[in-house]
Amino acid sequence: MIRNIAIVGFGLAGASAARSLRDQGYDGRIHLFGDEPVPAYDRPSLSKSVLSGGVSEPPPLHEAGWYTAAGVDVYFGERVQQIDPAHRWLRLSSGASLSYDRLLLATGARARTLSVPGAMLDGVLTLRDKADSLNLLGRLGPGVSLSIIGGGLIGCEVATTACKAGAEVRIIESADELLLRVLGRRVGTWCRERLEALGVVVQRNARISAFEGKDGRVRAVAFADGVRVSSDVVLVCVGAEPDTELAQQAGLACSRGVPVDATGLSASPDLFVAGDAARWPLREGGQRSLETYLNSQAQAVAAAAAMLGRVEPSPQIPRAWTEIAGHRIETIGDFDGPGDWLLRGNTERGSPLLMLRVHNNAVAAAVAVDASKDFAIAARLVEARTRVTLPELRDPAFNLRELLRARSAASAA
Ligand SMILES: Cc1cc2nc3c(=O)[nH]c(=O)nc-3n(C[C@H](O)[C@H](O)[C@H](O)COP(=O)(O)OP(=O)(O)OC[C@H]3O[C@@H](n4cnc5c(N)ncnc54)[C@H](O)[C@@H]3O)c2cc1C
Repeated sequence: MIRNIAIVGFGLAGASAARSLRDQGYDGRIHLFGDEPVPAYDRPSLSKSVLSGGVSEPPPLHEAGWYTAAGVDVYFGERVQQIDPAHRWLRLSSGASLSYDRLLLATGARARTLSVPGAMLDGVLTLRDKADSLNLLGRLGPGVSLSIIGGGLIGCEVATTACKAGAEVRIIESADELLLRVLGRRVGTWCRERLEALGVVVQRNARISAFEGKDGRVRAVAFADGVRVSSDVVLVCVGAEPDTELAQQAGLACSRGVPVDATGLSASPDLFVAGDAARWPLREGGQRSLETYLNSQAQAVAAAAAMLGRVEPSPQIPRAWTEIAGHRIETIGDFDGPGDWLLRGNTERGSPLLMLRVHNNAVAAAVAVDASKDFAIAARLVEARTRVTLPELRDPAFNLRELLRARSAASAA
């Protein structure tokens, strides 16, 4: 009988799993360990409302009294240093140890750094937690020059926010367009043009050779072709590495995440992993760490059920949102994949727009800009693998909502 569950990582996946365990009626002990000094909070706000100074704190994920009311034993600022899955035992940084029946690793990911000369200078930053966001906020302001290395989602979000704060913002990207991997060329170009209209300088095909400093502080970014760009602050936004340290120490083979099945179970019995730390199976095949809010949450719920013996495999469909240059962008499915992309909407006239990848007479992926209602329908088409053809979708008069309604009614009959 399961009476004692330990969760390592007090972020989104950890807090969601604790809540889901209680929602599913589990009344045994839950120990929730986090090395940050605060309970789980909304990490996406770190590049948006917290960085803009719009809120002084990232919103908490659960209301303050929930943990006590739900009888969850929470530990802040407490790092789990070692796990021993064979003997179902873990050790804390304080030296204390604890035995468990089931363990969930929800240790998230760490911001990737660059190994170039000057990477350790003061003012060369990364963004992953609340302290990072407040540190960056404290350095921004009118006239401050900020170089953002990496034009992915977080880089473009920070550029938007910092620009509004009056900073002189430059995005330095090694590819020939922003956001290529996640949103593709058409939306990537669209976002770049909007960021440039805000005043962001976008430098593409860039090769950095070093960060240069004076008196220990960063002063410039130097490029392989000898050009230098002065910078008061440098933010390295080149992706994240799943935090697999504990799993690796425990002997699990990891590669960009701890491999798990579609319930979160690792190769070790009683050891589950969810969120950014997990290399989770995808519905369309393959497995990887997805590094998105909604997928981390869904994985935590599946892993909580599985820890209680309710095996409900939940292969994931990647799903994310972002806010860039004042526009809300939502995605489902992988941008890269077989099939044909088609556009409903008009990029020339600006937003809203909806792009769909159609494969085997079904929508396999969708990207929406300022089109949340259309996106919700497209997402349901993807989830239900609703049959629909390219000519139907190409017809601007073809109504997606009615299609969904008709197909749902047909499948219910
Ligand atoms: C700046 C930023 C903006 C984002 N914006 C978006 C967005 O707009 N949309 C979107 O879909 N996704 C976004 N994401 C991604 C999303 O926030 C993550 O996918 C999600 O937080 C992952 O949840 P997690 O619980 O796996 O990891 P985390 O939220 O990182 O939580 C892991 C926690 O475990 C702790 N920990 C690690 N090791 C130990 C240990 N040994 N002992 C104790 N504690 C430990 C960590 O310190 C951390 O607190 C953003 C991420 C960042 C960083």
